Amino acid sequence: MEAMVLKEVSPIETEPLERMDLPVPVPGPGEVLVKVSACGVCHTELDEIEGRLKPRLPVILGHEIVGRIEGLGSAARMFHRGDRVGIAWIHSACGKCKFCKEGNENLCPEFQGTGCDANGGYAQYTLAKEEFVYSIPDRFSDAEAAPLLCAGAIGYRNLRLSGIQRGQVLGLFGFGASAHIVIQVANYWGCEVFVFTRSERHRSLAMKLGATWAGGPEDEPPKRLHGAIDFTPVGETVPKALSLLEKGGRLVLAVIRKKNPIPPLDYSEHLWDEKEVKSVANITRKDAQDFLSLAAEIPIVPEVEEFRLDEANRVLMLLKQGKIQGAGVLRVPG
Ligand SMILES: [Zn+2]
Ligand SMILES: [Zn+2]
Repeated sequence: MEAMVLKEVSPIETEPLERMDLPVPVPGPGEVLVKVSACGVCHTELDEIEGRLKPRLPVILGHEIVGRIEGLGSAARMFHRGDRVGIAWIHSACGKCKFCKEGNENLCPEFQGTGCDANGGYAQYTLAKEEFVYSIPDRFSDAEAAPLLCAGAIGYRNLRLSGIQRGQVLGLFGFGASAHIVIQVANYWGCEVFVFTRSERHRSLAMKLGATWAGGPEDEPPKRLHGAIDFTPVGETVPKALSLLEKGGRLVLAVIRKKNPIPPLDYSEHLWDEKEVKSVANITRKDAQDFLSLAAEIPIVPEVEEFRLDEANRVLMLLKQGKIQGAGVLRVPG
């Protein structure tokens, strides 16, 4: 099978993903073999490639996978050959620790990430444990469904954890794959959304998708924010967002790693009046399942830019430069 493989950590500018021909993997007990048709490109992959996260190496990246069941390992009974399925960032969790038992499997000490601790979807085939595979609602094409699995599902977790309520004002910092889905959920929930991004194109997409205000990171919005989600990879956004929060408001940090340090916070300006900061780690299966149903109900309209699998290096470069409109998706040859 054709696969794009990361062998060593390196800046994306060096095009570190290597196109390789590998044997099709064989599903073990309880696993399914999925023939991949589309795989979304996520900012977390840049963190893996450039060493801010530590993937096992070599690894096939990719954790927004849509495809069809092609093979079943022994004792795999939940799906049939030909079923259309999705695979998300959560590859597995132990199921036994206190976090798993409390429904917080995203915090499991043995949490494994798809395309990080196990091979992912930048390939024609991949394996998954059947309990960590989801049916995809019919209304989405393969390419549209791909970004729902991370950008959408993690975005949904961010939005829930922001505590935002109907009628309140939500601030989104950065407007990429995840934010363009989150805004559609927030509108559906009756929130007003303000978007902060440097990119002119991203601001116009935000207005098209229902933002009531869009400006640059230095601009002053017309109202204070009851909740905010920071999708940017930079540290400077954190004090900026905190200074714009309403009393008692919460800022959620959506990225796994910031690429530069968060500047020192001033207690009275950034934290006083019961303001909160919360990070979001991984997702649970329930996040993915709940979000896929909600996405079909709303319905979410994902904006996708499609590329060939062997263009993965270039797509990640465009992502780093903030030049993807909506979500980037790799089409995998049949
Ligand atoms: Zn992701
Ligand atoms: Zn666990």
